[in-house]
Amino acid sequence: MKKRITAIILAGLLSFSGILPASTVPAKAAEKPVVIVIDPGHGGNNLGAQHNGFTEKLLTLQVANAMKAELEKYDNVTVYLTRTSNEQGVSLEDRAAFAQSVNADFLYSLHFNASAEHNFYGCEVWASAFGSCYQKGMDFGNIMIAELGSLDIYQKGVKTKIGKKGEDYYGVIRACTARNIPGVIIEHAYLDHAYDVPKVKAANFLNTLGVKDATAVAKYFKLKSSKTGADFSGFKYTPTAQPAGPIRQDESAPDVCDIKVLARNDKDGNVLVQMTAKDNQSPVIYFAYSYDGGKTYSPLQMWDRSKETQSYNVKVPSGFANPTIVCRAYNNFELFKESNPVPVKEFKY
Ligand SMILES: [Zn+2]
Repeated sequence: MKKRITAIILAGLLSFSGILPASTVPAKAAEKPVVIVIDPGHGGNNLGAQHNGFTEKLLTLQVANAMKAELEKYDNVTVYLTRTSNEQGVSLEDRAAFAQSVNADFLYSLHFNASAEHNFYGCEVWASAFGSCYQKGMDFGNIMIAELGSLDIYQKGVKTKIGKKGEDYYGVIRACTARNIPGVIIEHAYLDHAYDVPKVKAANFLNTLGVKDATAVAKYFKLKSSKTGADFSGFKYTPTAQPAGPIRQDESAPDVCDIKVLARNDKDGNVLVQMTAKDNQSPVIYFAYSYDGGKTYSPLQMWDRSKETQSYNVKVPSGFANPTIVCRAYNNFELFKESNPVPVKEFKY
């Protein structure tokens, strides 16, 4: 009896000093698990983009499986896939309805990109243009493209797009927003551009993408893993403000695209050009240049977003008489503005 009283007093003292034995800590109500729905884009008869031997629907399922396996290493998270086979076709509406049926906190639709003229490269995330779905989509999207950027994939940005009816343009996002579920489309890379294709083809790369996708989710929801020791509970990001009205896409080309010829080298054919590009709505992300007055253009180059003015060499091929330099600046909605043409007189190379 005396021993027991001493034990009670001791426990009281310990609790008073804040050193409570674990067994006396009242059990905390189990936290509600985070419910994640991963949506491998396309499936069934809908193959998605097909280039360079790739079929998008096959890639998205591989990334989704890797993302699920990685996410399940974290504590307190439940993960579902909207489809689990390549033969399975699922409508966009059904993908969002499934997310609603499991009470999803977020839907991630996984995709790969291609462009009509095969000129773009990099990754982008599409988010809803509306309210808290916009806010959550932007916050997650910024974390996501930074993860993909760490794989040396060019970051095109996080964007919204509204269709003619005034709703989200992309079906899966629209169907999620209608159910008040934040949904994003992750376009990991382009299947039709020389800059991205070798990356996508590299051994184990799809698995790496899945791990990066899962890591972005873990950071966004501040998850931790008792299995691996990964702990993002202290992860910080600058939150996006919830907008009062819809956030429209930029529908106009960059505002400024000017060039000046700074120097010429008749010995090696280089013309040093200074270019100034500005867009008041969205960032300038690519530029291209022409030495033949705009008849042909260089492949799209990466524009350094930290500067409005930068210079570079335009190489004029040997024997090309009377070059005229013209440049284009592209914003991250892929709209471009062309510069003034600058003739380089009596250029001999
Ligand atoms: Zn797709």
